[in-house]
Amino acid sequence: MTRPLDTLLADLSDLPPAALLRDAGALARYAADATGNLSQPPLAVLRPATTAELSRMMAACARAALPIVIQGGLTGLSNGATPKAGEVAISLERMTRIEPVDPVSATLVAGAGATLQRVQEAAATAGLSFGVDIGARGSATIGGMAATNAGGLNVIRNGMMRAHVISLEVVLAGGRVLGHVRPLVKDNSGFDLKQIFIGSEGVLGVISRLCLSLRPAPGAQQTLFAAAPDMQAAAALLARLRRSAPGPVTAFEVMDEAIFARILAQGHRAPIEPKGIQILAEVETDAEAALHALLMGALEAGELSDVTLASSGFQAAALWTLREACAEAVGAMKSPVGFDIGLPVAAMPAFLAETRSALAALPQAEPAVFGHLGDGNLHYIVDTPDQKTVADIVFQAVARAGGAISAEHGLGREKPRYLPLVRSDDELLVMRGLKALLDPAGLLNSGRVLPPQS
Ligand SMILES: Cc1cc2nc3c(=O)[nH]c(=O)nc-3n(C[C@H](O)[C@H](O)[C@H](O)COP(=O)(O)OP(=O)(O)OC[C@H]3O[C@@H](n4cnc5c(N)ncnc54)[C@H](O)[C@@H]3O)c2cc1C
Repeated sequence: MTRPLDTLLADLSDLPPAALLRDAGALARYAADATGNLSQPPLAVLRPATTAELSRMMAACARAALPIVIQGGLTGLSNGATPKAGEVAISLERMTRIEPVDPVSATLVAGAGATLQRVQEAAATAGLSFGVDIGARGSATIGGMAATNAGGLNVIRNGMMRAHVISLEVVLAGGRVLGHVRPLVKDNSGFDLKQIFIGSEGVLGVISRLCLSLRPAPGAQQTLFAAAPDMQAAAALLARLRRSAPGPVTAFEVMDEAIFARILAQGHRAPIEPKGIQILAEVETDAEAALHALLMGALEAGELSDVTLASSGFQAAALWTLREACAEAVGAMKSPVGFDIGLPVAAMPAFLAETRSALAALPQAEPAVFGHLGDGNLHYIVDTPDQKTVADIVFQAVARAGGAISAEHGLGREKPRYLPLVRSDDELLVMRGLKALLDPAGLLNSGRVLPPQS
């Protein structure tokens, strides 16, 4: 009997060498996302250069009944793009064309494989900016970011990827091409189908091209570093800034005592006396004196115990180094498990108290918390050998608090079984119905996002 892979290779035998990789050395590059775990090389890597080629490859995989994993820049953090045994990878890394910026509609059309950094650079050459930024900008692709509805550092001001995608084109399992890539900001002609593909982590189709909205380049920024007695006080400062700051809040990041102590242990220096919750925030304004007066009010109200405003770009960058050192501090833990959770800001203090007391009952489970308070998104890290018990505790508490089991990184292969905690049976039914409609053979990114049927 002919093996499915041989059927596929025979079907695609006329492809140029760059479009199909089989060599074991080459396949190793496509074995894992940024988590680096569950590493497994794919059977082969298909690398389309155009939508037509991608469509043809998807049709060939369907004929051979070969399961597919979609890959962008492999910077994902939930193993969504990590191959399972027997999967063929479709990598978008050759679909990188960026068309000239349309300055009138302030839009740009890019192939799904273009990196975020190239999109940002293209926007900048036209005097504009792209409103999403993440640390993995040099490798993360714009298609992968749409597929995971990536957030990042400026969500509080600009929203997540979903807010920046005007239209997209997607190739379905079997090869049909859906959607129109055009700069139509207003389009209420029936259902807005692009929305089901944004954040679907590749289980419904392969995003091939996108039209993105651009923004004016950001103005002057003021960067502040502050200490608040607790998360409630930090939230009060955020409310004060949103109400009265002399410009929009563009970032509001927090670090708790546990993570900050680990950052200092890495050799970093605190710019103020590090007590309670450390806050790093940015306000888009040049009215430094007005912001200073507002912060004095927050000190008097007891929302802050100390605060400093960066007086230069150099100082602001140094303050951001402390936030970026969170990753380093997590890396130095023995056995960290990380949760990227979403919570209503008002529910955070109770959630933190509840999980802290539940974890205290385990022999070894120390939480450390940082994240984007302004977006209700915390990175909740626990250093523990007992990751399964800790995951159960954290996700159940998230569900009780009315939160999200993933705020940014997606469910991938790691979290689908927890989805029923936060989605109703009816919601799961609709999700499964969409999957069955768009990918009836279940070949695309299977085992990701949707929980197994019981
Ligand atoms: C240093 C670092 C910082 C990060 N910071 C943030 C952050 O601040 N905010 C945030 O939200 N995330 C962050 N991330 C994770 C983030 O999800 C990814 O960086 C990015 O969104 C994924 O893009 P990618 O091209 O690497 O996709 P991949 O990792 O290749 O894939 C991710 C998922 O999308 C699917 N996929 C990829 N391309 C397509 C496509 N064209 N069509 C359909 N499905 C596709 C894959 O199958 C997989 O399920 C960070 C990651 C790193 C390593």
